[in-house]
Amino acid sequence: MNADNWFVLGVDLGSTTAKAAVVDRDGELRGADVVQMGAVSPAAVARAIDGALRAAAVSRDEIRWTVSTGYGRKLVPGADRSYTEITCHARGAAALRPGVRLVIDIGGQDSKAIIVDDEGLVDRFAMNDRCASGTGRFFDVLARALEAEIEEVGELALAGSDTLEVSSMCATFAETEVISLLAQGRSKADVAASVHRAVAARTLGLVAQVGRVFPAVMTGGVAKNPAALHYVSQALRHPVELLEQPQIAGAYGAGLLARDEYLGTAAARSERDAAAGEQVAATAAAVTPHCLDCDGVLAQPADAGPVPIELRRSAP
Ligand code: ADP
Repeated sequence: MNADNWFVLGVDLGSTTAKAAVVDRDGELRGADVVQMGAVSPAAVARAIDGALRAAAVSRDEIRWTVSTGYGRKLVPGADRSYTEITCHARGAAALRPGVRLVIDIGGQDSKAIIVDDEGLVDRFAMNDRCASGTGRFFDVLARALEAEIEEVGELALAGSDTLEVSSMCATFAETEVISLLAQGRSKADVAASVHRAVAARTLGLVAQVGRVFPAVMTGGVAKNPAALHYVSQALRHPVELLEQPQIAGAYGAGLLARDEYLGTAAARSERDAAAGEQVAATAAAVTPHCLDCDGVLAQPADAGPVPIELRRSAP
């Protein structure tokens, strides 16, 4: 082992997948892995880390520092530090797409719109973690109702016409509505296209809270769905760019923060992340529409969205 040859690890333990990324001393992504989970599980984290190390051809004892992020970030064994996924997605996306201003992260259980500054730091953000609409869970429900794999839903939607009226934006009721449209003889492609168009309005509502600025990229697993990218671009009336590996943007960002920490240059981000953490906690505590109270009809206008939140810039 060469002592000068060191690496760091970023681990993103989400609600549905565990992701790990190995980053080298120059900040380059050397290898990554994504592991599907049934439930948040440390075993899935171990598999993702092993996969990333294998992909990078790096051994465990060459890893100097580990940063965790994501919904289950406090459950990642061996993490030296954790950051919110807002900070990590911003940092990862800014490295994968230099100059990016807007990051739309759609994961399994939540969605976020993040405005990023020149240095890849979070300027402000809005988050929806209260309602499945506009998250990966909604598309998972759609796939089940269409009897399709999640990987097929996007192509199916792109082949259809998006003119059907989809009134229900609640995941539970949407499944019933999709089944009913299919029973009326509507094609799977048309139903898929119409649902994607309706869901994109939710994302537009989230973006409206932080500002419609460009260039924009989409991160998270839903970015792998080509119809999600198409319809969100259409709703924003501007192309949203596709990253090569959108699902590992958070893990890569965590790896870059691990590198900053190891080099001792993480102070500014650390301060920002503490502020972001407080805002996330405040959102979770805020009174927002709850699933059980929802009658299945889109009660608020599409651009009302969740509770608006703003992250103040800290002094330099
Ligand atoms: P989390 O970090 O919350 O675990 P991810 O960012 O990994 O979530 O995103 C998971 C979601 O991404 C799934 O719910 C699924 O809807 C979507 N997804 C994952 N892979 C694909 C794919 N190949 N095509 C379309 N959608 C996908």
